[in-house]
Amino acid sequence: MTSKLALLGGPPTISAPGPHFSWPPMDDRTDLRVLAQLQRSISIYDRSGVIAELETALQDYFGVQHAVLTSSGTAALHSTYAAAGIGPGDEVIVPAYTFLATVTPLLHLGAIPVLADCDETGNLSVSDVAARITPKTTAIMATHMWGIPADLTALRALADEHNLLLLEDGSHAHGAAVAGQKVGSVGNIAAFSMNGPKPLSAGEGGFVLTDDDEVYYRLLLFGHYNKRCKTEIPPDHPLHRFAVTGLGLKFRIHPLAAAIALVQLLDLDDYLVGRAELAEVLGDELSDTEGISVPKLQGDVRSAWYGYPVIYAEEELDGLPIERFYEALHAEGLIEVDRPGSTCPLNLLPLFQDPRPLFPWHPNANQIRYEPGQFPVAERLHARTLKLPVWHRQQDISLARQYAAGFRKVVGLHHEL
Ligand SMILES: *Cc1c(COP(=O)(O)O)cnc(C)c1O
Repeated sequence: MTSKLALLGGPPTISAPGPHFSWPPMDDRTDLRVLAQLQRSISIYDRSGVIAELETALQDYFGVQHAVLTSSGTAALHSTYAAAGIGPGDEVIVPAYTFLATVTPLLHLGAIPVLADCDETGNLSVSDVAARITPKTTAIMATHMWGIPADLTALRALADEHNLLLLEDGSHAHGAAVAGQKVGSVGNIAAFSMNGPKPLSAGEGGFVLTDDDEVYYRLLLFGHYNKRCKTEIPPDHPLHRFAVTGLGLKFRIHPLAAAIALVQLLDLDDYLVGRAELAEVLGDELSDTEGISVPKLQGDVRSAWYGYPVIYAEEELDGLPIERFYEALHAEGLIEVDRPGSTCPLNLLPLFQDPRPLFPWHPNANQIRYEPGQFPVAERLHARTLKLPVWHRQQDISLARQYAAGFRKVVGLHHEL
């Protein structure tokens, strides 16, 4: 603490070159599995081989009837809304604070995204959702921000009370749970990304979960036409006759990506146990530090710790702007500290301020006119968020402690800035 800030020429807290975090962890098992798949098949049209193996493993892990793999999380979300029957004129209440792909598929379906604010946790405010329900509302979509579960109990009750579907975007939160109940198993349909940095990674990929047979058939028809629809939709089902074409889109995952995820899934619970320990280290080291606050889990909650949001309060540090604080942290060698960019309140993005130039055919585009200032909690939180990665290995505990020490150093010497 006596040493000078690195930004002003002092020695940095961390001098080890980066990156200090990489994801996903891989070892020989991944290499062997991918090589074996390369020799077996790199194109799978039905529910067989590694596709069936991974879908069955996901069904078992989440305790659901059906899992459908997709080429991305965005494709999983698009399929989710389509299989739910959402279309023109339907309003879907979605978080203002989420990644844009939680919401963009609704525009492609001609539906109306109704943004709702979050609470201090970053997850949907249940009271704000309730206030936005209208006779046109058909569903509520919840994201589990940075891996911390949204209030699924309250959202489920609200959805049931109004006869709405509850949908989940679990892309930050594979394996996160409330009272032992995993996120993705509470909503009627749940979509997940398996993009590179996500807690369960395939490099590129996604999946959809549901207990509903009819939804399962519609998921298949939306993005998995021909062979898979022919074998999975019962011949006596009224939708079977569309098996050859489905809706004509193709959203299949690559078998090599599925092979990567299959190995990752074996270790997911160990990763989460490790991350919980490291998140506790960060919490212990940072919780009494002026100018920042750290997440506190309420009750019997397991986070997937996709990120560790640290909320900055410049008023506690003599008005030091977050940009300058961030710059000082990076100068200290805390290169993994991130200010989230594209994961932001969606009302700040031009697409949600006026989608008409990109969706000229959208029947209700003139109702989708958001502007800055409409979601004060989300906007305030976003403006103050610094995100840390959450490591999972014992040998990274000292690195996590060094990151915390860097924060404390900058806070302690902030008057120099
Ligand atoms: C990553 C992500 C997506 C999109 O997933 P892709 O696999 O990149 O298409 C959607 N929603 C959330 C919350 C995400 O984090």
